[in-house]
Amino acid sequence: KRSTKSAPSTSHGLTARIVGAFGRHYLAQLDDGTVLACVPRGKRAEVVCGDRVTLAPGDAPLAIEQVHARRNALWREDLWRSKMFAANLDRVMLVTATYPGIQHGLIGRALIAADAADIPSTLLLNKCDLPQAEAARAEMRLYRDLGYEVLELSVRTDPQAALAVLTPLLSGQTTLLLGASGVGKSSLTNLLAPQAQAPTREISEALSAGKHTTTATRLYDLPGFPPGSVLMDSPGFQSFGLHHLSVSQLQHGFPEIRARNGQCRFQNCTHRDEPGCVFTTDPQAISASRLALYRTLYAELTSAAPR
Ligand code: GDP
Repeated sequence: KRSTKSAPSTSHGLTARIVGAFGRHYLAQLDDGTVLACVPRGKRAEVVCGDRVTLAPGDAPLAIEQVHARRNALWREDLWRSKMFAANLDRVMLVTATYPGIQHGLIGRALIAADAADIPSTLLLNKCDLPQAEAARAEMRLYRDLGYEVLELSVRTDPQAALAVLTPLLSGQTTLLLGASGVGKSSLTNLLAPQAQAPTREISEALSAGKHTTTATRLYDLPGFPPGSVLMDSPGFQSFGLHHLSVSQLQHGFPEIRARNGQCRFQNCTHRDEPGCVFTTDPQAISASRLALYRTLYAELTSAAPR
């Protein structure tokens, strides 16, 4: 049973995974499932959901002694700067929906952030039961043609089919689930991790101590899935922070740019307004909306914005 009681006292630290981040207050889960409240040792220590840590033995809240090296990490936009919020992910799943409409800016940013972190991404098109499905499917073809996986589902009207589609991707993996409001992300979270609806006592305590309830990021074990199947939910999420990316990471995040890099008149072409740029002269090279997104993000990365 999970509790916030003192950890078993040993001379060695305890290895755990961060499963909840509430401002400076964290929840860590031991291998046996026990969840413990903890706080970073030192003001400057950066700890995010998904981190593997070593906890110093003692009374709750335990001190986070060490954050283990991260396999990967993602940043979100936080007051015009990028703030790390998730680590050690196997996949990013972005929920979109036939209605109220597909947000290409959000999708584009998510795909670039995941690519720069070397995390595979999957796009979900939800609400395929609605009459708007045909048009939405056609819009999503853009991403299929670029090589991304696009899965169709109707979480509310056919949850069993949705589960069947997602199970192979979720099994044994840590998956970050994201989506704009209204797309059915809560419906999907509740289908996969019903316990997400009812905060347990230790979570309520961490919430009241942390105050930053809107930016709480959580990891949920998926009941009925193989061990190690985990869903990450970040309710306060607005947009990925991309300020820390380099221009070459940005270009790499666009498969259509990656494919034709070096084919412009100038080797160091930035694909903004240089003469002889493939992406300006050949309308087949990239869609107008994707080129506009690239140029917006380029300006964002290279402006003297606060870091
Ligand atoms: P969230 O804001 O992304 O968390 O979305 P919700 O899960 O709250 O869902 C938003 C609305 O879409 C709710 O009214 C849901 O009932 C509805 N919805 C979710 N999934 C589906 C679906 O597969 N088909 C249809 N038609 N509606 C859905």
